[in-house]
Amino acid sequence: MRLLYISHDQLSFSHGLLATADPKTDVVVMVESKRMLESKKWHRQRLWFLLSAARHFADELTTKGFQVHYVKAATTIAGIELVMTETEIRDVHANEPLSHRLQDNLTSAGITLHPHNFFLISRTDFLDWARTQKHLKMENFYRFQRKRLDVLMDGDDPVGGQWNFDKDNRLPPPKNHTWPVPLYFELDEIDREVLKDIEHLDLYGEIPEGDFAPTRSAALQQLNHFLKTSLNDFGPYEDCVPNDSWNVNHSLLSPYMNVGLLNPAEIIEKALDYAENHEVSLASLEGFIRQIIGWREYVNGVYWFFEPEYKSLNSLNANRELPEFFYDPEKTQMNCLSSTVSDVMKRGWVHHIPRLMILSNFATLAGIDPQAFLGWMREMFIDAADWVMVPNVIGMGVHADDGRMMTKPYISAGAYIKKMTNYCNGCAFNPSKRTGNDACPFTTLYWNFLDEHKDTFSSNQRMWQQYSGLKRLSDLEDVKEQAKVVLQKLEDNTL
Ligand SMILES: Cc1cc2nc3c(=O)[nH]c(=O)nc-3n(C[C@H](O)[C@H](O)[C@H](O)COP(=O)(O)OP(=O)(O)OC[C@H]3O[C@@H](n4cnc5c(N)ncnc54)[C@H](O)[C@@H]3O)c2cc1C
Ligand code: SF4
Repeated sequence: MRLLYISHDQLSFSHGLLATADPKTDVVVMVESKRMLESKKWHRQRLWFLLSAARHFADELTTKGFQVHYVKAATTIAGIELVMTETEIRDVHANEPLSHRLQDNLTSAGITLHPHNFFLISRTDFLDWARTQKHLKMENFYRFQRKRLDVLMDGDDPVGGQWNFDKDNRLPPPKNHTWPVPLYFELDEIDREVLKDIEHLDLYGEIPEGDFAPTRSAALQQLNHFLKTSLNDFGPYEDCVPNDSWNVNHSLLSPYMNVGLLNPAEIIEKALDYAENHEVSLASLEGFIRQIIGWREYVNGVYWFFEPEYKSLNSLNANRELPEFFYDPEKTQMNCLSSTVSDVMKRGWVHHIPRLMILSNFATLAGIDPQAFLGWMREMFIDAADWVMVPNVIGMGVHADDGRMMTKPYISAGAYIKKMTNYCNGCAFNPSKRTGNDACPFTTLYWNFLDEHKDTFSSNQRMWQQYSGLKRLSDLEDVKEQAKVVLQKLEDNTL
């Protein structure tokens, strides 16, 4: 007999070890560890989603005839050892884990690890590709994926003659627009039981209100709903943040994919199939496919390509503490940040642009400690996991890796936030002002950042325009004084 350890982020019957497992020869162990529950103060919905998805999955495994040991223990290894003793099975197997820490722990415990297909590219194939690259550019990886997976290809050329239709995307929030209505999922008995079990823990955030449901059937409903209601306009509205829709045209699939309930291969297959039988704009289809076969796979690849210490990098020497408004959105007058943090507290999810253009941009400009920011993101998001948060925050979000992932920092002043969101109209600050009491902190800190880091970035070709703007700034000294005021207010939690 074999004992198969199934982790809470690999809940799949069709991928990994369970695809070929047999109830006659395989017993399953799943562990709800104290460490998982209590090592951090989590967002309630993040912990709920993870536990409820695993408990639903364990029930389904039992229905399929497997003997399942779902145990609670101090650590994962303690839980596995407990079941080894109970069952007297010594031959333990697991899928390769999705984090360095679990990989080390399972390896040290002598558990046999198996490569798997939870991603479209294997770890070794990504490493082989990465070793041939001078710089790990996502666009190059994406083209490599398109060719090797034969997705949206016309022979050796991209369908439509272009690899990337981003220039057709990036529209600001439209006026009087009707947005896709998100699905609503009723909580079931297991969901409620999990919420009760975690009631005693000190957690952040509100209780779930039906935006996500931790089951395979909900994952499939969400995928079909996205294809029908949102795919066609995914591209144009991908980067905008309107105040009358939280989901916009995004797929809301990340929580499902990241626990294994949906596989990227089936998403691509269904999206292509849907587009073949319905009118879907190529720019939107390509944009969505790029997220799945490009960004998601690339981020996972670089997580394993970079050393585990990558998550501790701080190349811009940013040491400021996380301001209190990250936990209490009422504590800032900046409407964009207050609204975004409120949304995070509400459902543990905001789309890519608030994560990047509002939260990460502010953390970079204000010089917030990258590890403190990473810790907050890890705790708060329903779809968070080490492999996806570490590169997205350290590399893409706050550029703490000395440009190993992105060629330039993602920073912008208030004017771009004004263009792409509806936040500035209701704000105490003015996005076009960089000095004075009502100057937008993003705008002030943006110019201050460029000046402060000119030795590092002014010779960067891709930042040429930003630095010529800085050279033309007639009031730089006033801006630097204003930045001191802003940063002091930030420290006093009065911004
Ligand atoms: C600072 C920061 C932190 C992030 N943290 C996470 C995280 O913890 N978990 C997570 O899944 N995504 C993370 N992302 C990526 C992205 O924001 C989310 O995947 C996306 O917002 C999830 O919503 P969606 O499923 O509706 O995505 P859509 O906009 O519908 O995109 C479809 C899918 O593409 C994939 N994708 C797109 N961009 C990325 C990316 N940069 N990295 C990985 N996958 C991507 C996701 O699987 C997503 O579900 C982060 C991005 C930033 C800038
Ligand atoms: S004015 Fe500045 S702080 Fe206010 S919402 Fe706009 S970008 Fe944010």
